[in-house]
Amino acid sequence: MRSITLLGATGSIGASTLDVLARHPDRFSLYAVAAGSSVDALVRLCGRFRPRVAVIADEARLPALRQALATAGLPTTARAGAAALSEIACAAECDTVVAAIVGAAGLVPTIAAARAGKRVLLANKEAVVCAGRLLIEAVRAGGGELLPVDSEHSAVHQCLAGARLAERDVRKLILTASGGPFRTRSDFAGITPEQACAHPNWVMGRKISVDSATLMNKGLEVIEASWLFGFAAGRIEVVVHPQSVIHSMVEFVDGSVVAQLGTPDMRTPIAYALSYPERIESGSATLDFTRLGALSFEAPDLRRFRCLALAYEALEGGTARTATLNAANEIAVEAFLGGRLPFADIARVIEETLQTVHANEPESIDEVLEIDARARRTAAQSLQRGRSAAPRIAGR
Ligand code: NAD
Ligand code: MG
Repeated sequence: MRSITLLGATGSIGASTLDVLARHPDRFSLYAVAAGSSVDALVRLCGRFRPRVAVIADEARLPALRQALATAGLPTTARAGAAALSEIACAAECDTVVAAIVGAAGLVPTIAAARAGKRVLLANKEAVVCAGRLLIEAVRAGGGELLPVDSEHSAVHQCLAGARLAERDVRKLILTASGGPFRTRSDFAGITPEQACAHPNWVMGRKISVDSATLMNKGLEVIEASWLFGFAAGRIEVVVHPQSVIHSMVEFVDGSVVAQLGTPDMRTPIAYALSYPERIESGSATLDFTRLGALSFEAPDLRRFRCLALAYEALEGGTARTATLNAANEIAVEAFLGGRLPFADIARVIEETLQTVHANEPESIDEVLEIDARARRTAAQSLQRGRSAAPRIAGR
């Protein structure tokens, strides 16, 4: 019986995880759940899954959480704040932590889980993009394990089963990308948040949906793959595959390419990571090859999708660069979703921030957090500059 702490329980990955857990009450119990600020959603899932602890990151909502749990007659203990997030991530009562908070906000509890030797199921790719080697070292020091939830990395993990990662065996990793909703659109002017969040194949949270539309998501995934599997940027290729049937591939030196396929449903990689090395039923539909039709592939357009090129450059530059890239992207995406930045300017804000912020390689998580804060301030200034230029952009 595995005991789970689910960080980001009210999100898209949280919901898919709970769906898989509910199918296997004999294998998994839920120790703790956490969310950012949505008390009602958190209490609803406490009613259904009866965790021992529920944490709300926003401390101002603790009284509301307590009140709602009491009104529902639930025995779940209510906690709040950053320290409580880390405590449930390293509590002795759990052995597995699903890291599904969105953004760098998930970094500290993910590191706490790694240091405590938990099995960490990593959906929160921003944590590894910010911390790089520091997260990998925390896992090693804790003696636990890190398993990918991201579908591409789950695919690579499965394709590498039984293989040695050595360069003399594996030529490269090939990450597939759907291309997002604007794959064939030549002009990015006038794109609304609703259009950007309407992903052709996956239903996801709003931040990762925008990242998929700019291809920054694939850039973050290249960085994530580099750390999870120990591959340099030059050995990780991105291929656009609009049908999202092949979730990623590994090419070996003998010319063999191993691919992992499935319907686009995050319950598959979540179930894989929860039960590894065993396999359990996930609820995903089976792939019907007789109805699939053609699978197609094309190179990503790095000129239109500048974010992917910026991510490759940042990876070459080290963790200070990737942490800066991530922070600037979070600020830019938030501004776009809030109607304060045109879609086409997301890459500009990130590029300006990378040009301005230069930091030494972080030696600790505190140093990562300092770089993150600096990059956020710089990106916010870049937004302001964009605003003063708004009439010119509008008339372009
Ligand atoms: P989401 O927006 O649907 O959910 C985010 C969760 O994080 C929510 O539970 C929210 O309450 C919580 N949260 C937000 N800010 C927080 C804070 N400051 N402190 C604590 N909790 C906070 O996002 P999602 O789509 O579920 O994505 C979660 C993570 O998984 C992201 O890193 C994303 O890149 C990654 N991921 C998602 C998918 C997908 O299909 N949705 C696929 C691969 C990877
Ligand atoms: Mg992915």
